[in-house]
Amino acid sequence: MGSNENPAPHHETPTFGNPDLPPEGMENITGDPASATMTGPRNPVLESQFPNVITAPGTDISTQPFFWSSFNISPRRQQRGGWAREVTQADFAISDEIAGVNMYLEPGGIRELHWHQTAEWAIMTRGKCRVTTLSRQGMPSVEDVFKEDLWFFPAGLPHSLQGAGPDGAEFVLAFDDGKQSESNTLLLTDWFAHTPPDVLAKNFRVAQEVFDDIPLHNLWIFPGDEPGDLEADQVAAGVEWGGATEPVIFRMSEVTPVHENSGGSIRIADSTNFPMSQTIAAALVKVEPGSMRELHWHPNADEWQYYMQGSARMTVFNTGPHANTTDFRAGDVGLVRRNCGHYVENTGDDTLIFIETFRSDHYEEVSLANWLSHLPPKLVSAHLNIPEETLAKFPRGAQGIVPLP
Ligand code: MN
Ligand code: MN
Repeated sequence: MGSNENPAPHHETPTFGNPDLPPEGMENITGDPASATMTGPRNPVLESQFPNVITAPGTDISTQPFFWSSFNISPRRQQRGGWAREVTQADFAISDEIAGVNMYLEPGGIRELHWHQTAEWAIMTRGKCRVTTLSRQGMPSVEDVFKEDLWFFPAGLPHSLQGAGPDGAEFVLAFDDGKQSESNTLLLTDWFAHTPPDVLAKNFRVAQEVFDDIPLHNLWIFPGDEPGDLEADQVAAGVEWGGATEPVIFRMSEVTPVHENSGGSIRIADSTNFPMSQTIAAALVKVEPGSMRELHWHPNADEWQYYMQGSARMTVFNTGPHANTTDFRAGDVGLVRRNCGHYVENTGDDTLIFIETFRSDHYEEVSLANWLSHLPPKLVSAHLNIPEETLAKFPRGAQGIVPLP
């Protein structure tokens, strides 16, 4: 019983165990293997997805609130034209600063004209999307966005989204409030249907009969014709008389990475290079097989993660001490409270791609290696029992991603 029945984690377990007493973890209870017996119900399929949860590294200690969730298990609201699924604080209690939505619009599929009480940040994950907005100065914007492009709509900014061919559009939204839901939006059709027709007539200076056929139920997502020529739409919307003074679109692929080496890259988009993005800062992270996002933490905000590709494990270190390791795959969501130490290691054969978002106007992190390499070596040596000449081999400065050997 015990360890034989558990899937072996695909990482090297440490040769030492958790230093706390009483001992915790499979490696550290060697004198009493029966204590690891699993007597409860088991789900081998789920267990196979979480090797680092089922058999945690011997350095894990205690427990902490779930910091894993996934769009893959959230209900999908399917309508003609597309679908959406979300992870809000109601589902993922730890995430009180950001709620996420994963949406698909078929070619021509329209997410109807709407606005909401929170800001909306997004990253395109597939295809092409036509985005319309009206800026706070009343200036229109009509743009096409593609994979890895971002948009940001401050709270209250009206907008629409429409999938384009051939693949439609898939994207992930991050609202700057964990309680926000994709079902909690102010919809054009709802307002029309719930305004007295004589008021509509007076407002738009037409006969009341004009509104005889308006939909009485909202559309939310509905099918449409594929968007046509972009320039023609821009002219038709009046973009030519000035355009948006504050761009709501950002091309992440055009950003110079803040870190780039053989292990991967990190690109940042926050209000310093994307001025509209006042309440969400983001990083697009790529980690090659065998590498990892280095040990670090973020002082200014919780980190809400979305895993776009590949597989990873992350250990979150908190006061207590608490340290727990969880596995992540494409479609999953992670959450690291501000100041909690963590790394993200690629555990697969593909490039790991994930985004980090923060409810802040700027990106901020502290690199453990950068800290330790900017201290008197004698001081570090006194803490870790590592000779100064060995400490000198530690990387000097922040790496972001650990380079491949
Ligand atoms: Mn929206
Ligand atoms: Mn981080």
